[in-house]
Amino acid sequence: MKFIDPHVHMTSRTTDDYEAMSKAGIVALIEPAFWLGQPRTEVGSFKDYYSSIVGWEPFRSSQFGIKHYCTIGLNSKEANNVPLAEKVMELLPLYALKDNVVAIGEIGYDDQTEAEDRFFRAQIELAKEVGLPIMIHTPHRDKKKGTLKSMDVLEEHGMDPKMVVIDHNNEETAKEVLDRGYWAAFTIYPRTKMGSERMVEVVKTYGSERIIVDSSADWGVSDPLAVPKTAKLMLENGISKEDVHLTTYKNALTAYSQSGNMKESDWDSGVSYDQSVLYGGNSVLRGQDPKKGSSSDIIEN
Ligand SMILES: [Zn+2]
Repeated sequence: MKFIDPHVHMTSRTTDDYEAMSKAGIVALIEPAFWLGQPRTEVGSFKDYYSSIVGWEPFRSSQFGIKHYCTIGLNSKEANNVPLAEKVMELLPLYALKDNVVAIGEIGYDDQTEAEDRFFRAQIELAKEVGLPIMIHTPHRDKKKGTLKSMDVLEEHGMDPKMVVIDHNNEETAKEVLDRGYWAAFTIYPRTKMGSERMVEVVKTYGSERIIVDSSADWGVSDPLAVPKTAKLMLENGISKEDVHLTTYKNALTAYSQSGNMKESDWDSGVSYDQSVLYGGNSVLRGQDPKKGSSSDIIEN
């Protein structure tokens, strides 16, 4: 089976992760713009980060046969540094129009402050202006309230729910998100309550329509193989191959292809890779022999 991980922060992951993801059948991924753990103090840091997720990281991913897309946005946490956030907002339109950008995101609420609200609304307007879908980060604290508020605000701005993926759902939020017509994404964190086992139950309860599985793997304890692992567990638990395909591949493609920048033909006949190719004079190798091939040669399952 082929998989898409539609939420994974590869900047913080290793080449071993890329290799393992490719072997497990991940053909495409989406890297949402987010915070970096260490709060940024200069607008230039944002600029270089956005440049990296539209430039260097797609190159690195291509070296392992995986098609890389990203989302561009000002995350809710750093929206609270208002003078800096204002400068970041000026940068966003320049990056939102790059080739591999499939959404404005991940945006929404963290502590649900006034500043977060202000920059969330401004970015909804930006998404409408550039015709991109939106990826919503729902808060870890007060999740239910933050999720409902995100949807209320999106609707106030006239955003079509079909153009919005609400991420980091749980059983408390899933029903309302689906009932209101949004895509509902679920992040599978290892050794937490929202693990693969619980995802199996979600699909058993709600089916596969508009449900998306992702890893949100970053620099924290997380698993870049969460999507293929969850798919395996779903199959073992009697969920149909079609439902697994929808939740771990097709739904993410349908949602984000609305950007016009993501299409199956980008990887369908395999993403060819050539590790002798350089980016700005640099490669991912450290004296190893360059490998060449196509991701279609790697996929074993
Ligand atoms: Zn994220």
